[in-house]
Amino acid sequence: MMGGAFGNEMLHLLFPDVCVVCSALLGEGEEMCCNTCRQEFSPFASPLESETMLRASIAGRFGSGFVFRQGWCRYLFHKGSPLQEALHMMKYGGVHALGGVFGRELGEWMLVGSGGEVVVDCIVPVPLHRMKKTERTYNQAEKIAEGIGAVMATPVMGKLLVRTRHTVSQTGLAAVDRRKNLAGAFRASGVTGGARVLLVDDVVTTGSTMAAAAEALIEAGAGSVSLAAVALAAKE
Ligand SMILES: [Zn+2]
Repeated sequence: MMGGAFGNEMLHLLFPDVCVVCSALLGEGEEMCCNTCRQEFSPFASPLESETMLRASIAGRFGSGFVFRQGWCRYLFHKGSPLQEALHMMKYGGVHALGGVFGRELGEWMLVGSGGEVVVDCIVPVPLHRMKKTERTYNQAEKIAEGIGAVMATPVMGKLLVRTRHTVSQTGLAAVDRRKNLAGAFRASGVTGGARVLLVDDVVTTGSTMAAAAEALIEAGAGSVSLAAVALAAKE
């Protein structure tokens, strides 16, 4: 039996009916990830709770320098958790369908928590740089955005925002340096004037990526930017 993420990836490709995290056979109603692993995912109790923590996290780093209209994160992300393994499989393990599963789940939760009303005109995934996209062949944020878009019957604009340069890895950089590293890293075009955009990524760590991408959207004429991510990283 092979171990580690690579082993899981191979197993999943060969046996799509096994959990991407623990490789247990999936039961009825279980999609990609078994309920035992899911129970350890730390979901937020309500969209409001997630928005409050997201605002506190971003305000703590950027003060009033980054304003967003609404925000949703489905899970609180802890290092070494089954959720981290699932997100890793989605990002690097080639398990594209997982993005759609997370996206639909997030979209349904957003609608229920907001009484069926989420006011956005279009959904924009945070883009990968072209070089990274070639390595991975797909953008996980786009898969999540498509899942949300399907639930909300809202268009996904995958080409509206582009990364203009390849930024160095954010790992190990302080929030202020992350923001500097990302300043001007995105450019948006073709935004309908005043459009209410929902910006989507897999995980919000410091919010620097969301901040830089939102800035480009506002500069291009977006009326407001709201944020949605599968997970918000807990402060370690
Ligand atoms: Zn499992």
